[in-house]
Amino acid sequence: MVFATVFLQVIALPGEADSALLIGLSTGDDRAVFAAPNAQITLISSSGGKASFRSTVNVVALSPGVVKAGSVNLKLPVTVRSNALLRWNNRPYRGHYRLVQQGAGFNVVNVVGVEDYLKGVLKMEVNPAWPMESLKAQTIIARTYALRNRGRHGSSGFDLCALSHCQVYRGVNAEERVLSKSVDQTRGQVLKYQGALAATFYHADSGGHTADVSSVWGSSIPYLKGSPEPMKYQSPYSSWTTTMRLSEIQRSLSSKGINVGKLTGISISSIDSAGRTANVTLTGTSGRTTIRASQFRTIVGPDRIRSTFFSIGRDPVAAAPAIPYGNTSPGSGEDELIPLNAKDEQMLIAFTQQGLFKTEELMDMLIKPEKRGLYLRKALERQSGPGSPQKAPSFDAPVTGDTVTFSGRGWGHGVGLSQWGAKSLAESGWDHRKILKHYFPGTEISRISN
Ligand SMILES: [Zn+2]
Repeated sequence: MVFATVFLQVIALPGEADSALLIGLSTGDDRAVFAAPNAQITLISSSGGKASFRSTVNVVALSPGVVKAGSVNLKLPVTVRSNALLRWNNRPYRGHYRLVQQGAGFNVVNVVGVEDYLKGVLKMEVNPAWPMESLKAQTIIARTYALRNRGRHGSSGFDLCALSHCQVYRGVNAEERVLSKSVDQTRGQVLKYQGALAATFYHADSGGHTADVSSVWGSSIPYLKGSPEPMKYQSPYSSWTTTMRLSEIQRSLSSKGINVGKLTGISISSIDSAGRTANVTLTGTSGRTTIRASQFRTIVGPDRIRSTFFSIGRDPVAAAPAIPYGNTSPGSGEDELIPLNAKDEQMLIAFTQQGLFKTEELMDMLIKPEKRGLYLRKALERQSGPGSPQKAPSFDAPVTGDTVTFSGRGWGHGVGLSQWGAKSLAESGWDHRKILKHYFPGTEISRISN
């Protein structure tokens, strides 16, 4: 058995060491049980002490920096190893363990090769029933993420925690044959941009167009630009609607220090080039303020307002995408400060003649010609019924009574890879390389070591 394990490892490692990660399983513990039935378990203190046990050993915190294993006192840090699969508190993890001091107790750290680590991670991030090429893309994302974030918990004596703060890791219990295959088939592959590990964000469903990272987190990253999905797809999040009380929204906002008095209205004040809501204006009895739509979504509840592809009030974008998939609509495009082209000018004149604008809007356009794009989109929205491809998300939609309804499509921040998008691409024959190149343009797949 022992021989077989070693032998397989030699075959799987053609001259390439499996980079070890330190994963924090638990912090500040005062006891731990390690078990490997009928096998020897060895504890080695970095200061030289050593103790061996058969099948099982109880470890107890004795005093700060010292543990008692069986009847032997050992100074921390202590390494716990076995030639067989070793369980910690009845949960099996590959690799070995390290106990490091944390106050009067210790942190339990799993020292595991990155490839084995991924096998204990992927099940929480993907659906094993999905096409292999989408699983491989997600595997490369998870590997890149782990290595890019190495050392994140350095002050606690490990690289990554086992919770969603880093990536949920459940060891051998979470392993799944098809996912292990995906790990093996992409062994050592990571996504790099200009030689450095890329920031591999992903989300459930882009709603037809991914988001530019700058619209969500403010920073600009060349390979995290928004782009249309190459293919139309359906997901459980293709359309959604949620109705909330203004008082409920007001409470969430004021808990984050955003106060406009009693909240009386919410309106969309700008959209980005893809048609996503970029900014939201909140009106209340003591003033008004404009915040980023992504911030609004996070504060109000990202599970309620599932994406920034939303409209407010009467005009659900969910029923009909504001822009056709795979194509940016010029009508709902660019920021309002972009000059109008000749066709748009003509349209605006026609709308003016049809009496679509209020007097104050015409005045506003005269004083601020740069706002004509904004008014053109307003007019298009007023004109076209649901389903028109030129329809832009609603601006200044009225809020009636104490409730407000948000309608939208997609789920998640929209940055990077869309999982449902990747699934549909894999189903239509795209391989994982092509999928990753699409969602992270300018990056390349390369090996861990170079
Ligand atoms: Zn963490």
